[in-house]
Amino acid sequence: MSRKDQYALNTRALVTGGAGFLGSHLCERLIKEKYDVLCLDNFFTGQKRNIEHLMGNSYFELVRHDVTFPYYAEIDQIYNFACPASPPHYQYDPVQTTKTSVHGAINMLGLAKRTGARILQASTSEVYGDPVVHPQVESYWGNVNPIGIRSCYDEGKRCAETLFFDYHRQHQVEIKVVRIFNTYGPRMHPNDGRVVSNFIMQALRGDNITIYGDGSQTRSFCYVDDLIEAIVQMMKTPADFTGPVNIGNPGEFSMLELAETILSLTGSKSKIIYQPLPSDDPKQRKPNIALAKEKLNWEPKIHLRDGLKETIAYFEGQIK
Ligand code: NAD
Ligand code: UDP
Ligand code: UDP
Repeated sequence: MSRKDQYALNTRALVTGGAGFLGSHLCERLIKEKYDVLCLDNFFTGQKRNIEHLMGNSYFELVRHDVTFPYYAEIDQIYNFACPASPPHYQYDPVQTTKTSVHGAINMLGLAKRTGARILQASTSEVYGDPVVHPQVESYWGNVNPIGIRSCYDEGKRCAETLFFDYHRQHQVEIKVVRIFNTYGPRMHPNDGRVVSNFIMQALRGDNITIYGDGSQTRSFCYVDDLIEAIVQMMKTPADFTGPVNIGNPGEFSMLELAETILSLTGSKSKIIYQPLPSDDPKQRKPNIALAKEKLNWEPKIHLRDGLKETIAYFEGQIK
């Protein structure tokens, strides 16, 4: 019998990157389910205000720590979300980005191996690079430039997946790997440079909307609440299901369509301008979520327009 069952204790969950956009929503959700949450963050892109409403809650504990260094605690589950996710942030210090993914994975997997904790990796649709298979299925190996400006993130995340599967095969660590597609919602950093936050902030301030390239490149946008639900369900799947599993919303939009939708929802008079496309920018992205539907009994429920309305309201509050 496990310690948890024997003493009827709460599940102890470690959330790395817990002060970030996704991590803070995950901490909040786990606390609602009465997990003991240990939030670990080095505050590179995370913010205290994302978790300040959780401070003082007896189920919540905050630790300032960098995952590239070893960390010791006794826990039951690890959600490994530490890593800057927006291209300007992960390209700011690319060596640290790779270290965060690779050394961070080694340390968290070492922790899982020692404690017997189940560990979930927040991987990414970027493992597919600039995909030639569309929509992307988990069996697709991807099309990634190993030496470009996105490689620190893409290859770091790919190597982390390798480490997860090798710790699973070699040391029987219980792993769960989710490949997250573009997710948006409240608590995205207003200046993080990602397309949803950029367009909304530009529209609200009356600044020009900056489309990179001709705006025909596509992305699929998942609202944060849908994503968190999938993460929670994934962690509860039987031990023999490791993933990788795509988590995202299969609705596919061009960046021009996204700009027009945000202009119409905000009623902004901002003008659309075109700027150079960054190198290696994927031309298309859309998840095939058949596996998530089958194994997690999950599919996203929130339409882009509804999720954008919530996100716009959040950013309006940030500007005031
Ligand atoms: P975010 O930048 O808001 O959060 C990342 C968090 O990790 C921040 O709080 C940051 O301070 C922390 N962090 C960074 N390096 C660290 C380190 N070395 N040690 C400890 N903490 C560190 O980004 P997000 O959108 O919340 O993304 C969270 C995770 O989900 C990332 O791993 C990201 O790769 C993955 N992901 C996100 C998306 C998305 O669309 N949001 C898509 C695919 C994958
Ligand atoms: N590690 C950690 N916390 C732990 C256990 C291990 O941070 O509770 C780190 C440890 O410092 C090591 C890494 O995880 O660098 C990998 O651990 P593993 O046991 O796989 O490797 P080893 O220690 O045998 O090199
Ligand atoms: N993008 C854009 N204008 C911006 C920011 C981003 O046109 O102000 C484009 C970017 O070139 C990419 C898409 O929007 O094609 C999504 O960019 P984001 O950085 O949000 O995510 P990722 O490229 O990692 O999917």
